[in-house]
Amino acid sequence: AKFTIVDKDTCIACGACGATAPDIYDYDDEGLAEVIFQNDGNRGVTEIPEDLYDDLQDACDGCPTDSIKVADSPFN
Ligand code: SF4
Repeated sequence: AKFTIVDKDTCIACGACGATAPDIYDYDDEGLAEVIFQNDGNRGVTEIPEDLYDDLQDACDGCPTDSIKVADSPFN
């Protein structure tokens, strides 16, 4: 299983992750990224399905500030 969360303290609102993985990431009013998949609300508790693993990995790899965290268990 895969779970993801954005560290908003280090996100610089570059816009890369939402372009790469629009089903997983979107932006708040300040442009900071957050996990929106199935209304996760950037809690990091929603399991990401296998068909989104490639998008997940690409977004994680493409984040210039390493703000996208991915783990095998829920974050909260
Ligand atoms: Fe923020 Fe990283 Fe997404 Fe850019 S790619 S918006 S820095 S989380």
